[in-house]
Amino acid sequence: MLRYFCASQGYIAHQDFADASYMRKVNQLREGLKQVKDYTAPYPLNNMPLFNKLEIETVNRCNGQCAFCPVNRQEKQRPLARMSEELFYSVISQLRELNYAGNIQLFSNNEPFLDRRINTFIRHAKSALPLSFLQMMSNGTLLTLDKFKDCIGFLDSLIIDNYSADYEFHPHVKSIYEYCLQNEELQKKVKICKRTPDEVLHSRGGQSPNHEKVEVIGGSCIYPFNQMVIRPTGQASLCCNDALGEVTLGDVSRRHIAEVWNGPEYVAIREKILRGRQHIRQCSSCTNMLPFFVPPGHHVDEYIPDGHFLMTGKLRVLPSSSWGKKN
Ligand code: SF4
Repeated sequence: MLRYFCASQGYIAHQDFADASYMRKVNQLREGLKQVKDYTAPYPLNNMPLFNKLEIETVNRCNGQCAFCPVNRQEKQRPLARMSEELFYSVISQLRELNYAGNIQLFSNNEPFLDRRINTFIRHAKSALPLSFLQMMSNGTLLTLDKFKDCIGFLDSLIIDNYSADYEFHPHVKSIYEYCLQNEELQKKVKICKRTPDEVLHSRGGQSPNHEKVEVIGGSCIYPFNQMVIRPTGQASLCCNDALGEVTLGDVSRRHIAEVWNGPEYVAIREKILRGRQHIRQCSSCTNMLPFFVPPGHHVDEYIPDGHFLMTGKLRVLPSSSWGKKN
């Protein structure tokens, strides 16, 4: 069934009122609209506080075949790009100058362990940015127990999505799971989720291959105000759901990351998204709402996809005072 939100009002024009989960989303959207307005009101659009969510994609490939993902390896591939080491270390150094203390992920729309340099990058990022919350996600297929042991001490959070049609363990994930069972501290930071590759998630900026067509979504979105996503080339994407990098909001290989964040491209996109998702093509059919809003100074520690968590807690929003601590 085609569903959409009224563009100007942020309410549903066509809906199934019996669908409680859908109504929950609508209520989230309404609440989210207010949160975006409240959050942005004190600041000029060219002087927003620094993002507190950062994704750095070091290579733009994934070895997965998930039906919901616009960049799964069955789909048309992006031109291959691999971040230069010079650029990676430059970005981390700029973040260090800024005393960056937000969430940082060394992946975006890719499988990070395809990059053989990733554990070196993880070690460097955590050493240079001790106040940040360093989080990785992986499908686990390339994450051997040795690689896991090599990086886990530098991570604040690792989420492994084990994809299998019949919920079978991948052998690497199984060995990590069994290793973590022996260690309570690891169980606090490692989340393993058994999932199927045919899940239907949100529309990913209208590009999720197995999502029903969505016409118009109203309301705003917090991501242009709190998230930066850097592609391997140094170009900043609209958000984590701009999987193909169709929108470019500046280039950190040419300008300082703080300048890019409040540069003209970000200002223009913020003006549009405040007027409504319908003013940006990708956003106009994007059903992404969770995590809709994370207050400044907080981060989302965990997330809840469909599937079965083997080791997890609930979605928690933690104050920044907990960053860098074992929790
Ligand atoms: S509406 Fe969707 S595509 Fe647009 S910025 Fe938000 S999450 Fe990204």
